[in-house]
Amino acid sequence: MRTHLARIPSFFALLLAFSCSPKATFRIIDKPITWNSEREQLSIQYLKDRHGLDKSTATIEPQMVVVHWTAIKTVEVTFDVFNPPTLGGRADLTGASNLNVSSQFLIDRDGTIFRLLPDTTFARHVIGLNYLAIGIENIGGEDMPLTKAQLKANELLIRHLKRKYPIDYVIGHHEYQNFQNTNLWKENDPNYRTVKSDPGDKFMNQLRKKLSDLNLKPVPKL
Ligand SMILES: [Zn+2]
Repeated sequence: MRTHLARIPSFFALLLAFSCSPKATFRIIDKPITWNSEREQLSIQYLKDRHGLDKSTATIEPQMVVVHWTAIKTVEVTFDVFNPPTLGGRADLTGASNLNVSSQFLIDRDGTIFRLLPDTTFARHVIGLNYLAIGIENIGGEDMPLTKAQLKANELLIRHLKRKYPIDYVIGHHEYQNFQNTNLWKENDPNYRTVKSDPGDKFMNQLRKKLSDLNLKPVPKL
């Protein structure tokens, strides 16, 4: 009897430890980049010029999540790159629009999720698909593979977004050109393409396995 009673506190301690585990916590921290009239106007112009959509607000109707890595080593530097409304010196992109690149979400190496823009505010992160795609950037790159904590955070964030919006597709940025022959593709210039390798098949396969119960649509074959 004494032994049995002695076990009870440790059982509760275990329960407490599990319920307080940081891995089980889902939290989004707002860390807004500059959204001013210049960025709004450039976004509306991008929607018109590149996607062929005449809109009075720079908003999107999310049907897709595009997962990226930053190729930048810290949240702070990434924030500083995305924060200005206009691009500085990226000749491969300025011809198409002077609107700066950004994403709605940014996930740090430890799985901390930052929201840089509201879910349905336009962000320039994927050619041809920005008008329907929420972008998730992850701190990492070719020489800095994404972490287990980031995998979990992406999973939780996408589950959260899927509950709010009719998300059909979750794709890696490296897969975006597979949508060129679908009716979702909206880019006026057939020559405006950039080759992307982020975040790669390995991470996307792991993420898709975690999200298999969501019955997302497969990436179309080219
Ligand atoms: Zn990317």
